[in-house]
Amino acid sequence: MAKVIDSKIPAGPVPEKWKEYKAHQRLVNPKNKLKLDVIVVGTGLAGASAAASLGEMGFNVINLCIQDSPRRAHSIAAQGGINAAKCYQNDGDSIYRLFYDTVKGGDYRAREANVYRLAEVSNNIIDQCVAQGVPFAREYGGMLANRSFGGAQVSRTFYAKGQTGQQLLLGAYSSLSCQVQAGKVKLYTRYEMEDVVIVDGRARGIIAKDLCTGKLVRFSANAVVIATGGYGNTYFLSTNAMGCNCTAAVQCYRKGAYFANPSYVQIHPTCIPVHGDKQSKLTLMSESLRNDGRIWVPKKLEDAKALQAGTKQGWEIPEEDRDYYLERRYPAFGNLVPRDVASRAAKERCDKGFGVNNTGLAVFLDFSESINRLGLDVIMQRYGNLFEMYEEITDVFPGDVANEINGVKYYKPMMIYPAIHYTMGGIWVDYELQTSIPGLFAIGECNFSDHGANRLGASALMQGLADGYFVLPYTIQNYLADQAVWPKVSTDLPEFAEAEKAVDAEQDRLLNIRGKRSVDSIHKELGHIMWEYVGMGRTAEGLKTGLKKMAELEKEFDTNLFVPGTKEGLNIELDKAIHLRDFFTMGQLVAFDALSRNESCGGHFREEYQTEEGEAKRDDENYFYVGCWDYKGKGNEPELIKEPLEYEAIKVQTRNYKN
Ligand SMILES: Cc1cc2nc3c(=O)[nH]c(=O)nc-3n(C[C@H](O)[C@H](O)[C@H](O)COP(=O)(O)OP(=O)(O)OC[C@H]3O[C@@H](n4cnc5c(N)ncnc54)[C@H](O)[C@@H]3O)c2cc1C
Repeated sequence: MAKVIDSKIPAGPVPEKWKEYKAHQRLVNPKNKLKLDVIVVGTGLAGASAAASLGEMGFNVINLCIQDSPRRAHSIAAQGGINAAKCYQNDGDSIYRLFYDTVKGGDYRAREANVYRLAEVSNNIIDQCVAQGVPFAREYGGMLANRSFGGAQVSRTFYAKGQTGQQLLLGAYSSLSCQVQAGKVKLYTRYEMEDVVIVDGRARGIIAKDLCTGKLVRFSANAVVIATGGYGNTYFLSTNAMGCNCTAAVQCYRKGAYFANPSYVQIHPTCIPVHGDKQSKLTLMSESLRNDGRIWVPKKLEDAKALQAGTKQGWEIPEEDRDYYLERRYPAFGNLVPRDVASRAAKERCDKGFGVNNTGLAVFLDFSESINRLGLDVIMQRYGNLFEMYEEITDVFPGDVANEINGVKYYKPMMIYPAIHYTMGGIWVDYELQTSIPGLFAIGECNFSDHGANRLGASALMQGLADGYFVLPYTIQNYLADQAVWPKVSTDLPEFAEAEKAVDAEQDRLLNIRGKRSVDSIHKELGHIMWEYVGMGRTAEGLKTGLKKMAELEKEFDTNLFVPGTKEGLNIELDKAIHLRDFFTMGQLVAFDALSRNESCGGHFREEYQTEEGEAKRDDENYFYVGCWDYKGKGNEPELIKEPLEYEAIKVQTRNYKN
């Protein structure tokens, strides 16, 4: 019988919980009489907003990031928007509806109470960001504009052209800078957390590396918060920034923090298809494009074959021979079905031979109808930078007229295909965002908390900023209130020395392998294994094969890796080797979790468990829980611990986007 853990959600009907909870906060004196220090690792939207808020509240914050500026955190890449239940469109939106859509979008595998809280604070986020000067798009009359994202039938996504993450991050950065100036936040750029230090069972500090000098540095504090992003780059090719890594999270996992739902990985339907084996990065075409773009493949196999051979172009195929398969299969949501559903549907068409590029792994995203209806000017206002980005990469401008059939103009369509994008799984946290190690908190994409088995578009920024601005600053005080009587521990403690020694020894180990293979060559191979066996369609047999291949490749990594240079000074290859070591742990964890979950839900699709129509088939009787994994040493299977899910406000049912 697996162990069971508790999420510490206070009792009471869901809508009341958060209010009641807030009312019972034991607030630490906010103006810093107590001199409590908090380490916040990460300066993405989650980390920057948390560090700024904690600084504003009077805590002394140590804030680290691996980039040369907080403004370069991966959050800057977010394009499409951020959700909030403002109901500015008067289309029937509400906090309950956002809550419901998010729980349903997550295929009923999220913690219900967390999602309610998220929906409740969503509106505060928009007010906060507007107050910071974030230039959200506006209607002609001055009201903030909205667009729609997948899994919702209302328009609730706030945006700043295709650069929403950048603008939100600049807002958070300005608040952060204010606290840096006020002396409440001390910023360490180009510092990487290598380990968490546990003293008497509590997180009391970290070991970080100054990436420019190679020097290891000890930091001690009353609590540690990690906001270090997701593990999508385990798959090598993904839409994530190249520097994204899961080292901090995996190191916390090795030290005893449970890792929850690792198999819930999001594969985004609208990315530029892979075009060769020299690529190290994939590019997202924002989901917002599905507001006005229609997804299709040819109805006839001979047309698809001609497209694949390059003897025909998409714009030569007349309307009646096009299969707008999402509109056909899901009439109620059409092109705006959630990402997992859209990705699987694209794969299904391509697997049946209807793919539209030379590899057969692409579908069209076509703006002809909307440009004809609204004009190119309007479409460019909405997606100008995305059209330009697409042209820069593919040399095709989606606003160019290519053909006219029966008086209807056809524009050059984009080609898209699913790619790894986001990770719903992450470090397990309770309702207070505290991990299973007391004093260690996890926020933003690196925790597992709110998205269940599939995240809806524009909800990651919402969650990151909810955690950073509105949840953690409250909940961490419950922990810190008890810490007020404890002095901050000294970095001279043996626990710090031991942790530092272990990090140093690991660097020596990697440098001294002196084998023949580069980090990238091994990482790429790991990525192939992940995509092939632990990707969009998984089977028990495939997962076992994947695990075996990963173990073999990890042995190759341990014996035949070549890392040039030394540990003194800047050594990017050494840093990448450390990240790859942790991607191995992560990849195996994803596979273990996927193998243990004998059902399909959201982004986790086990081919053995599907309906006749190819939809994910959940098994609520046996798998209605958060799967948490406890590390048991390298090469050993981790232990599964279950947190049973409890739904009070929402009826758990089969997801339906058809009607
Ligand atoms: C191309 C793209 C477009 C997207 N568009 C949207 C969108 O439109 N809407 C939406 O809601 N979501 C979107 N997302 C998802 C969203 O951007 C991310 O989930 C979110 O920004 C993650 O924020 P974060 O603060 O948790 O982590 P990140 O932004 O990844 O920040 C991680 C931080 O941790 C630091 N860090 C990492 N490891 C260490 C370490 N060991 N030591 C020290 N520091 C470390 C980094 O320096 C960085 O500061 C998009 C994602 C991608 C890839």
